[in-house]
Amino acid sequence: MSFVHCPAHQAKPAASDICLVIQGDRLLAVANTAANVQLPVYGDREAWREISSIPLHVGLLGARPLWLYTIESADALAPVGWEWHETRALLSAFTPAQMHAVSCARELNVWQSRNRFCGCCGTPTIDMPEERAKKCPACSSLYFPNISPAVIVAVTRGDQILLGHNRNFRPGMFSLLAGFIDPGETAEQAVTREVREEVGIEIGGLHYITSQPWPFPNSLMLGFRAHHVSGEVVVDGKEIEQAGWFTRETLPEIPRVGTVARLIIDGWLRE
Ligand SMILES: [Zn+2]
Repeated sequence: MSFVHCPAHQAKPAASDICLVIQGDRLLAVANTAANVQLPVYGDREAWREISSIPLHVGLLGARPLWLYTIESADALAPVGWEWHETRALLSAFTPAQMHAVSCARELNVWQSRNRFCGCCGTPTIDMPEERAKKCPACSSLYFPNISPAVIVAVTRGDQILLGHNRNFRPGMFSLLAGFIDPGETAEQAVTREVREEVGIEIGGLHYITSQPWPFPNSLMLGFRAHHVSGEVVVDGKEIEQAGWFTRETLPEIPRVGTVARLIIDGWLRE
């Protein structure tokens, strides 16, 4: 099963259409096990009608249309039989297609909520009928969904990999170095700069691996591999509190399955 982003608007959901009901960072679902997430269908809507908004067509999950419902109130109670889940907590349990669908829906949700008014003149924006865009009726400015590109890199040295502990991580958790791309910068330049800034080393052999939408709130993670060229690890002490070289035998806690960091680390582990 795959997810296909689909900007075309449909008139009305059908009973078997899938619904992503989002409230802030939470998602309405039933997580039966750690590896199975059940999403509501439109036919279930009686269960959440009291708390629901106007649906937005997101795309196709498999052959079934997918709709986004946004709940404003953080106090909204989950209907009987359903639960609010922190979206991050479900990452390991989503199928890849569900992950793409949820990423798309969350990013559209952020775009909707942050572009209600024109940034140029302050007039309330209106939805364009045929494309994913909002328009200012006064000055004609257009607002498309925003993506913030970021880079993430696995730097290796012999049989070791460089991992860092960000001050926002839970204690003991280490991951690959990452950061946002600055205006006017290529992805490759951003990787080199981030590694230099965060741990003070120079890298070479930089090559692209894969990408992943990361809807917290609207990033696109571009994943790379590189190798150490020179310098000793000296953390910046701001974003990165600890960093060091780890072997396959001395790995600390690493990011969960479902993240691009884990995908790249697992690729290195298999070598
Ligand atoms: Zn305007």
